[in-house]
Amino acid sequence: MASTADTVADIDDQPLSPSGTLVEKANHQAPPSYSHNGGPCSCSGSWSYPTKDSTSIKRPPRPSSLSSIDEVLSPEVRDTIHQTIEDLSPSLRELSDYIWNNPEDGFKEYKAHDALTTYMESKGFRVTRHYAKLDTAWRAEYTRGQGGRVIGVNSEMDALPGLGHACGHNLIAVSGIAVAVALKAAIDKHDVPATIILLGTPAEEFGNGKTRLLERGAYKDMDVCVMSHPGPGSPNGAYMAPWMALQNLEVEFIGHSAHAAYSPWEAQNALDAAFLAYSNVSVLRQQMKPTSRVHGIVTGKDWQPNVIPDYAKMRWIVRAPTFAEVEELRTRVTACFEAAELTSYFRAAALATGCKVKIELGEAYYDVRQSTVLSDEFCRIAETHLGMVTEEVQTSLPASSDFPFDLTMMSRPYRVLSHTVSPKRISSIPIDALTQDPIRSHLALQLKAIPSIQPVVGVRIQPNGGNHTPQFAETARTPEAHDSCMKVAKALAMTAFRVADDARFYLQVKQSFEDSKIEIDLPHAQKASTQPNTL
Ligand SMILES: [Zn+2]
Ligand SMILES: [Zn+2]
Repeated sequence: MASTADTVADIDDQPLSPSGTLVEKANHQAPPSYSHNGGPCSCSGSWSYPTKDSTSIKRPPRPSSLSSIDEVLSPEVRDTIHQTIEDLSPSLRELSDYIWNNPEDGFKEYKAHDALTTYMESKGFRVTRHYAKLDTAWRAEYTRGQGGRVIGVNSEMDALPGLGHACGHNLIAVSGIAVAVALKAAIDKHDVPATIILLGTPAEEFGNGKTRLLERGAYKDMDVCVMSHPGPGSPNGAYMAPWMALQNLEVEFIGHSAHAAYSPWEAQNALDAAFLAYSNVSVLRQQMKPTSRVHGIVTGKDWQPNVIPDYAKMRWIVRAPTFAEVEELRTRVTACFEAAELTSYFRAAALATGCKVKIELGEAYYDVRQSTVLSDEFCRIAETHLGMVTEEVQTSLPASSDFPFDLTMMSRPYRVLSHTVSPKRISSIPIDALTQDPIRSHLALQLKAIPSIQPVVGVRIQPNGGNHTPQFAETARTPEAHDSCMKVAKALAMTAFRVADDARFYLQVKQSFEDSKIEIDLPHAQKASTQPNTL
């Protein structure tokens, strides 16, 4: 594998872009798609990118003063992005409010789909509605020139049943637009060849919309992908949170009904089985790592107190920092369900319900890994050009925020703005559904992922009012939350501009991405990474 030094030397003689940085000679080609895992990142330190006066540098990037940023991201470019988003902000606020007032569940985001695509068309993007054979997915694309890099952006849209926009996806929708339109303005004004692809991604909460888009090729042309997500924090801060891998499980207990008073001995009580399973998992929690989560619900139909239920269904989600840990925990959780499947009363009288159990694996989300090179740059831009909070350490997220786990519990250090640590979780694209063959799935993970980041936008929450609460739904429509999202959108657009405009920066992103494949800590990953043609 070529070293970063080799890579930098390879492009020393290349021409400058119109905005003063290097462009690649050859037509751009998408990088090999491997899951990304970068090296140590440093927010207080920074990488030095060669300028037009230093094109002969033949060594890896090195920490330098922040002043070098201005040479690669000019004040004019920053101003274009800043002003574009300022101008867009009022109309995006209206759009966000419209989506908030019309909450739609996953794969039913029809109003959001229509409003967002109409908006993107009005901004000069070529829009594909009902993209990738998904009713509510969409794609908005804009290309300037030829041979430029391809910047992907995600806009989520779905709400939570009964809770509305309690995860703030109305904010994510308009944040994606802000990034895409501001980037368009910047590449137009400063004459940088590039393509922007903004995807409207349905069903983030339930349904794994991005995975379906991924499987249908929606991300294959992208060189990088960015998005943001609101979460508890300072309204002037953002952080690169670790995101958890997860596995959905569906468990059905099938018994036999009977009159609950007249002939209960004839029954096999499916509700009892579900309660036993629930209790078993509760006992298991004491032995779980604090970074893991198991949470589930019980549902039934036509239950009455005088009829012993003959059917109960449970839906569970098993989460852990890595999918390898999810698989390990899932085995233990499954045993909790199977303990309730005792077809003979003689085998364990205390637990016997006589019911049959059916356990099915649902969709899986693999490890989330964020590009350290992109996140370094995002953080640096946010700090230096947008005055964002630099000392915001999320030491303990509210319990109601169940997707990023408690950062203090991480087995590896993470990184918040200005804090130097070594993150290991990369790629904001949820990868693939679980297949029967773990090698195949993990290989798919490596081949399909692209360098990406998903910073969390800090929004001020009410006490115990984190994501997935009615209080957070209220937060998601405040002007303050909107403004925070717009600020992060500026930082993301500036980061994305660097990818489009600066060949060396992009090569660092790509190199780090390729290097990471040997560090992937998933089962079978090494075998998969050395056999890329076996898929
Ligand atoms: Zn959510
Ligand atoms: Zn969400």
